Amino acid sequence: MTDRPVVLLTGASRGIGAAAARQLLSRGCNVAIVARSPKGLEAVTAEAARAERVLSLAGDVARASDCRRMIDDTVARFGRLDALINNAGILGPVARLADAAPDAWHYNLAVNLMGPFYLAQAAIPHLRSTRGRIVNVCSGAAVKAIEGWSAYCVAKAGLIHLTRLLAAEEPDITTVALRPGVVDTGMQTLIRKEGPDVMTPARITHFKQLKEQDQLLDPAVPAEKMTWLALKAPPALSGMFLDYDDPRIGNAD
Ligand code: NAP
Repeated sequence: MTDRPVVLLTGASRGIGAAAARQLLSRGCNVAIVARSPKGLEAVTAEAARAERVLSLAGDVARASDCRRMIDDTVARFGRLDALINNAGILGPVARLADAAPDAWHYNLAVNLMGPFYLAQAAIPHLRSTRGRIVNVCSGAAVKAIEGWSAYCVAKAGLIHLTRLLAAEEPDITTVALRPGVVDTGMQTLIRKEGPDVMTPARITHFKQLKEQDQLLDPAVPAEKMTWLALKAPPALSGMFLDYDDPRIGNAD
């Protein structure tokens, strides 16, 4: 059993999740990191000064059995669980609803919505006993219909309501949804690459200009907010969907 906070973080191999893994480690946490590709996880582990505080778990959050194993392995290794950060996410299929492949639509919901459900369900007994926290990484697309992103919008909208449901049913666990802002990661590269075929010219121009004018957020910015929410969010925030710059979110230190 460890005294350090134990956090399970999905989507930790690159982008916002990799930045959050670094911040959690620098704040003394034991961190279980998840992604499908073991290679990306190895890079994050190799950077960590104290590799014994990192548990690398390759797996797909779309699979219930993988999610249960992730929670079980984390508790077996570190003895407890204080926070779950559901950060893993995919954008595609980037296609108009009329043309989107049903299997790709289904997989999007499996990753972005079912994964957080599977992980939360497996984590609940552990988080009840630590009075822990769940952070669901959401998106502005949850409350805005963005053409060409139908599965993503629907899944992220569901994730906001999953957050409210968890808050209503689990008073000993603080559950929040976070909008991380528009962040300079591979997901934005994909939007600029595949978006022009399906998004309105005005919207794709907006996304391209954010990059050209250096206005995308550094992943470290939302990562710091995620870290604070995972370690310190008060019960009064449970059930809320918060913007990354909401003044109710404190600084990680
Ligand atoms: P990213 O750079 O594409 O990274 C996604 C991460 O999730 C990777 O580590 C990826 O690793 C992992 N992942 C994807 N599918 C997975 C699966 N089925 N099982 C386990 N891990 C999986 O994305 P990001 O921009 O950092 O996004 C992180 C979160 O922020 C997402 O939930 C996204 O929706 C949200 N968000 C991002 C933005 C933005 O502007 N970037 C805006 C709003 C919301 P593998 O590929 O190896 O699995």
